[in-house]
Amino acid sequence: MRLHIEKERCVGAGMCALTAPGVFTQDDDGLSEVLPGGEYRDDGDTLVREAVRACPVQAIAVDGP
Ligand code: SF4
Repeated sequence: MRLHIEKERCVGAGMCALTAPGVFTQDDDGLSEVLPGGEYRDDGDTLVREAVRACPVQAIAVDGP
C-alpha cells in the first residue's frame, strides 16, 4: 500500500506516530510525515491500518492493496 499524508488536513494530533512509530513521525511543525521506507507496507501490517483509522481528521490516504 502507498501512504500519503494530506498536510493541509493534518492537525498534528500525533495519533499516527504513536500508533505506528516505525512508519510515521512528526516534523518540526508537528505535522505527520511518513518515515523513509515507510511508504510501502504489507497489507498485513495492522498497525498502519490502525494508525489510518486513529487519525481524527482522516489525513492519511492509502492507495493500493
Ligand atoms: S494522526 Fe492525523 S492529524 Fe494526527 S499527526 Fe497523524 S496525520 Fe496528522
